[in-house]
Amino acid sequence: MKNIFDYTFDELNELILELGEKSFRTKQIWEWLYIHKVTSFSDMTNLSKDLISKLNDKVSFDYIKLKTKQESDLTNKYLFELIDGNFIETVLMRHDYGLSICVSSEVGCNMGCKFCESGRLKKVRNLDAYEIVEQIMLIEKDLGERIDSVVVMGIGEPFDNYDAIIRFIKIINNPFGLAIGARHITVSTCGLIPKIREFMMLPLQVNLAISLHAPNDELRSKIMPINKVYPLKDLIEVLKEYIAKTNRRITIEYVMLKEVNDSLECAEELSNLLRGMNAYVNLIPYNETSHIEFKKSSKDQIRSFYDYLKKKGINVTIRKEFGSLIDAACGQLRAREGD
Ligand code: SAH
Repeated sequence: MKNIFDYTFDELNELILELGEKSFRTKQIWEWLYIHKVTSFSDMTNLSKDLISKLNDKVSFDYIKLKTKQESDLTNKYLFELIDGNFIETVLMRHDYGLSICVSSEVGCNMGCKFCESGRLKKVRNLDAYEIVEQIMLIEKDLGERIDSVVVMGIGEPFDNYDAIIRFIKIINNPFGLAIGARHITVSTCGLIPKIREFMMLPLQVNLAISLHAPNDELRSKIMPINKVYPLKDLIEVLKEYIAKTNRRITIEYVMLKEVNDSLECAEELSNLLRGMNAYVNLIPYNETSHIEFKKSSKDQIRSFYDYLKKKGINVTIRKEFGSLIDAACGQLRAREGD
């Protein structure tokens, strides 16, 4: 049975019409779900008994379970148990501009980036859209506050679970419910070119971030195996198409790995690669993990890399570090309890 949080607004409307009801019910139900956050159809007190029982026959209302929550000043990390017993993690960050959430898109990940903890567990399965939507629902409930922005940068490669991600975006973006604006949603990919192409054709104003992490094929293939399938030249070409088509700026993520990709030669190659592109580079201080040998670049090295790019006219920022005390930072999420 399909979960209620898997329905887009339009699909729910179709179901309502199929059940012989009028369209205005769709908005009522949507508000019960996303504004009042009820946990069963019978709590929707303005629906008839008949409709409630028809919905119960057709649609499930299962929730993923919040297992544990770790808090530090600006970050919470949540561990959720899925209905089939798998685990995923979600991170909440408090910025000056509001609450931002980093959702997982898969159980495990198949991309195999060498520096990433989350990928140590191979993909077990895709998440369904409802399991991604509920990460937000349960955290809003936990905090009694609204989430302002969402990044799809937790465990998993979102474009390896494309359909669910698009469904998820449509659901949280709907103005009658969670109403998270498209410009407040960012999807991050390691560079699955065919999906970037599909994504740019959609009429959604969602931000795209690319995990680039290296300015040439030799190095990129070493740390990101996906580069052997979709090499840099092709990736940069599709990004240019994306920018031309959407008129939107893209974010280039570049994790700073000591003595791997942080030299000024790399900065030079990167600036050549991105010259003239409507892109901005986010330098990410690497979060070290005990299982992986990569080290973080020194603050001075990050600064010199930053200064070099700046001098070359590249838009660049250094990402603020979040959550490293509770292993909630990028690449530190794990999909298993107690691992
Ligand atoms: N699969 C997607 C989204 C998940 S990773 C992607 O590749 O974009 C989110 C970001 O965190 C990626 O840029 C990833 O490369 C980066 N990352 C992974 N491990 C990290 C670590 N230990 N420290 C800092 N960033 C890391």
